Amino acid sequence: MSFQTRVLSVISLLILVMFITGCSSENDTQVQVPQTQSQPTVAATPPPPPVAEPAELVIRGGILLDMTSDEPNPTPLKGMVVHDRKIAKIIPSNSSDSLPEAVNTIDAEGKYILPGLIDGHVHFRVWLPGAPIWKRASIQYGITTLFDTGPCGEICDETGQEPNEWIKAYKDFMNSNPDNPDGPSLYITGRRIQDKGGKHPVGERLESREEIANYMDSLVELGVDGIKVESSVPGDMRALVMEEANARGLPVVGHSSDAMETINAGMKFIEHMWPITSSALLSECPEPLSSRRCDYLIDLDKAPAVIQAMVDNTVYLNPTLYGGWAAFADSMASGAQEDERAMQPGELYGDMPERYKEGVRRWWARAGNMEAEALETTKKSLTRVGEFLKIFSDAGGRILAATDAGDDKLVGVSLHREMKMIADAGVDPYKVLLGATRWPAEMSYKDDIIGTIEEGKHADILILGADPTENIINTRNIQYVVRLGKVLRSPDDCSIIIPPMSTTCN
Ligand SMILES: [Zn+2]
Repeated sequence: MSFQTRVLSVISLLILVMFITGCSSENDTQVQVPQTQSQPTVAATPPPPPVAEPAELVIRGGILLDMTSDEPNPTPLKGMVVHDRKIAKIIPSNSSDSLPEAVNTIDAEGKYILPGLIDGHVHFRVWLPGAPIWKRASIQYGITTLFDTGPCGEICDETGQEPNEWIKAYKDFMNSNPDNPDGPSLYITGRRIQDKGGKHPVGERLESREEIANYMDSLVELGVDGIKVESSVPGDMRALVMEEANARGLPVVGHSSDAMETINAGMKFIEHMWPITSSALLSECPEPLSSRRCDYLIDLDKAPAVIQAMVDNTVYLNPTLYGGWAAFADSMASGAQEDERAMQPGELYGDMPERYKEGVRRWWARAGNMEAEALETTKKSLTRVGEFLKIFSDAGGRILAATDAGDDKLVGVSLHREMKMIADAGVDPYKVLLGATRWPAEMSYKDDIIGTIEEGKHADILILGADPTENIINTRNIQYVVRLGKVLRSPDDCSIIIPPMSTTCN
């Protein structure tokens, strides 16, 4: 039904109601009828032919990487039309169709057009009332969607807020203004499920199917987008969680202690590397597997069985390389100084509260505080994980470039660093990009609205100045960021995204 037809039906209905009840529209403060319509004749006269409204946005030219394919399929465009916050039309360069008039136009000639990036693993923190840094840093780095996988942590401990209500309030807040968006969308899982003996402070302790079902019902009522489980949940309980989540159409993310057990329980998501390490261990490790110091013991001869099971069952792997090893990786050597600069007053993260800045500094300082042997096994582990990821990706495995950003990792920049570290392992840049676009959308069951550039999907669009399939570092060459059809970043205007900054977007 068109807008005009809808208005007409509402008007007709109102006239009928007023006729029956005898009430005057002056008393009605609830419904506002457009004043320009001539009421008595409206219902009888056919609506005038629709006047072509200008599109909200037209993107002229450019090379489209729509991310629908498993291999790069760059398509030169005549242009792309955005209407009603959605991608209305994609016009290839060889089409005879013309581009319509638009309120806003972007010249993308010679540039690369992709879906807005998705960080499929963050722990949303406000940092400041209204979460301005989370909004601006996400947009600054081309991220149009965040997926929170476990809410608030110590913040709720301190404030006494109920974590599920806290994160739902922020989901509503972040998504509250689709007509005039000023940041990324936020999806949530709510508090994680753990077993009765689980030790996570913000986890829900459950055991029976009934308890699991009841808790999930409360999460559905709250409005979550997925379920998070803790690593302590054993295989049989994990299978129950999967059944109940499947019955409610919700994806399940989270921790596990063993990849094979997790895959057999039906989960489609492996978070961090230690479940893989556990399933393909060369020999016993003296450290806890989660220390990131045992991964050098991944037996590449045992890896193919795990890899095959993951590929056959479409299990997404979120290795969190940046979270685990950035402080130890040669390619991240300048990260600490970059973050220090970005946390100075007036810079992107400048108004972040001091205690969180300290967290970032401590996190980078880990390598310097480590004994030589520990440092060596940690670095060896990064190398072995890289070897595993390369084999996994070449076998058709899906790696998510999702960051675990939150307490001590900066939202925004972290995603580009995660992508760089995955590419450094030898993974093809296009597949790295899939891990920040279509794959996290599929993983979180949001691929009907985001993750690719297709007609009818949300107009969340990233335009780069250079080809990211040539070199993943080109994802930082950001020219435009469009969220729900609104241009939030452009080369000549960054005032929208960085109010406290006097410097340019770049
Ligand atoms: Zn996490």
